[in-house]
Amino acid sequence: MKRKIVLSSGNKHKINEIKDILKNMPFEVVSKDDLGYENFDVVEDGKTLEENAFKKAQELRKLVNEIVIADDTGLFVDALNGEPGVYSARYAGENVSYSDNNKLLLKNLQNVAMENRTAYFKTVIAVILENGEKIIAEGKCSGKIAFESKGENGFGYDPLFIVDEINKTFAELSESDKNKISHRAKALLSLKKKLEDI
Ligand code: IMP
Repeated sequence: MKRKIVLSSGNKHKINEIKDILKNMPFEVVSKDDLGYENFDVVEDGKTLEENAFKKAQELRKLVNEIVIADDTGLFVDALNGEPGVYSARYAGENVSYSDNNKLLLKNLQNVAMENRTAYFKTVIAVILENGEKIIAEGKCSGKIAFESKGENGFGYDPLFIVDEINKTFAELSESDKNKISHRAKALLSLKKKLEDI
């Protein structure tokens, strides 16, 4: 019988990406919503991505007895001392839109030359196994913050993030191309290796 992995997010993109990367492994990936926990929500008040990811995993673990997975992602901009970082979702305030966050990012970088607009996305994935053992995996993707939005795909800061190797923003890539090189994909691949060992 396949071991169940329960994801703390209801985000369809994340679920599909995780299912795709773990597809040849003996796990059945389901989301918290599939188990009827649509209203499960955790205040992300940790000081690091690791703290937030483990907090989400631990809270979910109180509800289910299976393997649980939670992730947290942030955009770290060098010229802003790592901001928005762990506050990426609410950079411009609580309940703001992606566009509000992007506008603030551009404003805070308005006098910064291209060579100094370096940044990276980081994803941390926290896993708690059935026996309580914890696993952590992370992935990073480096790039630069553009002077203006470009591309229609993706979400969040994607239209402003020019990926180093390909010189295009994430929003200019198809979902499947982004998923080959993204921070989240790298974290998931690293997690896959760790799961293969257990
Ligand atoms: P979360 O931890 O995945 O919910 O991400 C926190 C915030 O980071 C989101 O609200 C987005 O603004 C941003 N973010 C996360 N992943 C990505 C990505 O792949 N592209 C662009 N922005 C992202």
